[in-house]
Amino acid sequence: MNPLIKEDVIELLESMIAIPSVNPAYDPGSGGEQLLSEYIEQRCKARGLSVERQPVLPGRDNLIIRLNSGHPERTLLFEAHMDTVSFGGMSEPLLPRRINGRLYGRGACDTKGSLAAMLQMMEHYARNAEGLNADLILCASVDEEHAYRGLLQFMELGLPIHGAVVGEPTNLGIVIAHKGCVRFEIETIGKAAHSSVPHEGRSAIMDMVKVLHYLEQSKSCLENKIHPLCGAPSLTVGTIRGGQEINIVPDSCTIKVDRRLIPGEQPAEIMQELQNNLQEYLGGLGIEYAVRELLLDEALDTSPASTIVRSAQKAASQLQISTKLCGAAYGSDASKLQQRQGIPTIVFGPGSIQQAHSDEEWVSMEEVRHAARFYIELVQKFSSADKEEFHA
Ligand SMILES: [Zn+2]
Repeated sequence: MNPLIKEDVIELLESMIAIPSVNPAYDPGSGGEQLLSEYIEQRCKARGLSVERQPVLPGRDNLIIRLNSGHPERTLLFEAHMDTVSFGGMSEPLLPRRINGRLYGRGACDTKGSLAAMLQMMEHYARNAEGLNADLILCASVDEEHAYRGLLQFMELGLPIHGAVVGEPTNLGIVIAHKGCVRFEIETIGKAAHSSVPHEGRSAIMDMVKVLHYLEQSKSCLENKIHPLCGAPSLTVGTIRGGQEINIVPDSCTIKVDRRLIPGEQPAEIMQELQNNLQEYLGGLGIEYAVRELLLDEALDTSPASTIVRSAQKAASQLQISTKLCGAAYGSDASKLQQRQGIPTIVFGPGSIQQAHSDEEWVSMEEVRHAARFYIELVQKFSSADKEEFHA
């Protein structure tokens, strides 16, 4: 064990796995993050950290844990969510088990492993605050797995923050870019008629075939837009629904579409572009349709020159883990901090996204220990960065 770390981060993680924190969106009977937040609050207070509760939803509060060293001009935020997805088909999701270097249990990798390592870092600096030239905030948030309402509420506080780390499984890779997303539905509107006199109606399903054909064709130009860390954007039609009976010309057909964005693409602009192109193509065919927006989510695009990224690379180099800057295909809280508040943000944590949400969720215990050391080193590097570096 690292001599800097007094208590075992794996034991802390085991305690947190044993406390259920399923997002009620997946299981309405769940008590949400409350029990876990009580455990963390008591633990942090006992170790001299200041803890505030920020109400987000009934009985579901963010925890804002702070360590002030008198350097608000250099404030570093750590953020990890407390909620998990449902237990799914996991046997004994709340029983942490150590098997061949892995720790199994719901939330082990998404994202209690990161949260445990961040707590360890905060507790370390609560004991060793001298020489620290940065103020630290750890936000243990609610509702990431459903609608990001915990983070959005935290952002409402508008705290001055100069760098941020979001804890999600990256296999200890320094993620500075990830994809965003635009989701919408398209409904074609036809005219119902009995199938014995189909010429009296207009089939919304046959009109939808043309929409699908258009979307399929439009995919080819996405392949040429390649981001060096995230690859190409993508478009998926996830559901289709239409018609009532075999003998009725259908008057409605609806599809749901998921368009993944690469850094540099703005959700609102892409949505507008899609609307314009559809209008141009379908208007000409006389098809009546409606488009409804479901979700706009930004991509993460943090500058490699920012202090948080440079500090992360120095910390990784010191610990002899990879200093390579990476991209991810999934979305996270990080893009909201970076795109909406201009906070240079990285994603970094133990475990692989492959195990997140799966019935076989586990995390490498070695990676959890490395992550705790990394966060401790990262604070050091960030805290000792030159003032000018903050304007990079
Ligand atoms: Zn997560």
